[in-house]
Amino acid sequence: MPVETKTTCPYCGVGCGVIATVADDGVVSVKGDPDHPANFGRLCSKGSALAETIDLEGRLLHPEISGRRAAWDEALDLVASSFSKAIAEHGPDSVAFYVSGQLLTEDYYLANKLMKGFIGSANIDTNSRLCMSSSVAGHRRAFGADTVPGTYEDMELADLVILTGSNLAWCHPVLYQRLAAAKAARPGMKVVVIDPRRTMSADIADMHLAIRPDGDVALFTGLLAHLSDSLAIDRAYVQNHTVGFDAAMQTARAHSLTEIAAATGVTIAELISFYELFERTEKTVTCYSQGVNQSESGTDKVNAIINCHLATGRIGRPGMGPFSLTGQPNAMGGREVGGLANMLAAHMAIESAEDRGRVQRFWGSPVIAQKPGLKAVDMFRAVADGSIKALWIMATNPVVSMPDAGAVETAIKACPFVVVSDVMASTDTARHAHVLLPSLGWGEKDGTVTNSERRISRQRGFLPVPGQARADWWQMAEVGRRMGFGAAFAYRNPSEIFAEHAALSAFENAGSRDFDIGGIDRDGYDGMTPFQWPKAEAGKAEVTRFFANGRFYHEDGKARLIPTALPQTDRTSADYPLTLNTGRVRDQWHTMTRTGKSARLTAHIAEPFAEFHPRDAQALGIESADLVELESPHGKVLLRALISERQARGSVFAPMHWNDQFASQARIDVVVAPVTDPHSGQPASKNMGVRARRFEAK
Ligand code: SF4
Repeated sequence: MPVETKTTCPYCGVGCGVIATVADDGVVSVKGDPDHPANFGRLCSKGSALAETIDLEGRLLHPEISGRRAAWDEALDLVASSFSKAIAEHGPDSVAFYVSGQLLTEDYYLANKLMKGFIGSANIDTNSRLCMSSSVAGHRRAFGADTVPGTYEDMELADLVILTGSNLAWCHPVLYQRLAAAKAARPGMKVVVIDPRRTMSADIADMHLAIRPDGDVALFTGLLAHLSDSLAIDRAYVQNHTVGFDAAMQTARAHSLTEIAAATGVTIAELISFYELFERTEKTVTCYSQGVNQSESGTDKVNAIINCHLATGRIGRPGMGPFSLTGQPNAMGGREVGGLANMLAAHMAIESAEDRGRVQRFWGSPVIAQKPGLKAVDMFRAVADGSIKALWIMATNPVVSMPDAGAVETAIKACPFVVVSDVMASTDTARHAHVLLPSLGWGEKDGTVTNSERRISRQRGFLPVPGQARADWWQMAEVGRRMGFGAAFAYRNPSEIFAEHAALSAFENAGSRDFDIGGIDRDGYDGMTPFQWPKAEAGKAEVTRFFANGRFYHEDGKARLIPTALPQTDRTSADYPLTLNTGRVRDQWHTMTRTGKSARLTAHIAEPFAEFHPRDAQALGIESADLVELESPHGKVLLRALISERQARGSVFAPMHWNDQFASQARIDVVVAPVTDPHSGQPASKNMGVRARRFEAK
């Protein structure tokens, strides 16, 4: 009899439910789960090709030490002793974990516990730093805690949905399907797309604002001034529930509409049209993603957006609010367990002595990290300068994905001790590991993930464990035990870790931030159906809505409007006159270690490319399908020219996925400068100066 398993797609932050069926002959098929509230049975191209990515070709199936096969005991002993030695000789801040939004919540929880509670450093950061940390910082500034107020249903209920810095159609495809269906059912609903490129998301847009790169702060600061001029401010809401309105208005008023038009590259007529649409549409949801977050002004962009919703009281009610969309399948779960260098578990703050004490008491740990650790870019700088002596990289490929990727590769090569836990044997990062630990992949591992709308779902194993692969949580528990932390890491299964995580969320009133996900036993874990937090009160069908009561998490219960000064946005120069924007394509995921296995997915776009406006291409003497070299002060890449009117003049777009396994000299992050947002530490991957030339083989 075929066996069906309900699980969750491992790709994007939409978090679609999947039913995987293993037939009698072992063949696996997948379909959307009609009961899952994220997708109601829908899947996108990547989700529907999942069964094509689960073969064992290229898999890491046993531990390796310096390229030779090793036993688990030997490998784990070496990891534990090397970390212990570095800590004994150089202190706890000489070691670091670089983890991933691909990890399950249970893995993430344990990495955080081991590093912050037992090693005593906060040097654990994640590739989610590259994805949504500006939203985290913006939420903390505005709301007093990292809380995402939106839900997918809000987008369907809204009369106006603004997509800014989000190519929803390619990056969150099922959510785009839901939005398109809602718009088709309600012709009065409007969609505005704000993006320097005319992406596929603009196909359903009533208005596309081809904004200059990083023009978002100016656009929404100008909107705040317009809302005030047009008497659209909700004075009572501002008075009763916010602080900082006057200061934010003063900054907004410092710029004329002409200045805003110059800073955004949007005409005054278009600005007025957008501003008036926002002004008259109460039910407005503003969705934002990497085009907002991956910027030197990412946190200010988030706050400029939130300011407009707070000033109009459009938050905490159905069909309205700011809504950050997470990129990865478990970026949100990582936030819940404090998996970033500047957070503690259960949405507690590492800067708070009270929170640190609460977490330490709960863990019964000998120490607790006293200060934020190194964020991703700084972490690899510390690897480069020799401050980090031992580094454990889990479920991510920073040699491809970090900015200034060439320098990151050099740093990892020179690090005295590098551990990589991965499902694949020879990623660009794994090649430089002293110890390689084989992890379980999708379909093999068990745990939970949380999607963009705070919905916790199970990932369940339905495939046999291949070779000697083991769960990431098991690897960390074993290393923790071997470092002498015994009982605190004596877990037998992921349900015990989740139960501990849930108990911490309620410990000593930690759940006052509404992150109390309550107690859960093994049966409850095994049979878990997707649920959202804040959890509904007993007997109520509806999920509690964030900020419905007008109370926020700052001590006085009020939200903050943040003044947002217009940043410098032009990163070009005479030597590097084009603006490079990087991003995803529809059918690939991250560094292609999984989606690259599917011929169907690869057929969509077979090669890495650089997309130019026709007039730029003409000026550069570049024709369609030419090989072109893109170069910055940090490095260069070789890409296939694509010429289209979708691209704004003076700019070039290149996808982030390709790596040396799939195409030579195509790691675009080699070119990307390691500059970051000052509040979030998130790299700016969408606005940097480069030059381009037609490549001629010598
Ligand atoms: Fe998977 Fe995202 Fe596609 Fe859903 S939208 S099937 S979560 S990749």
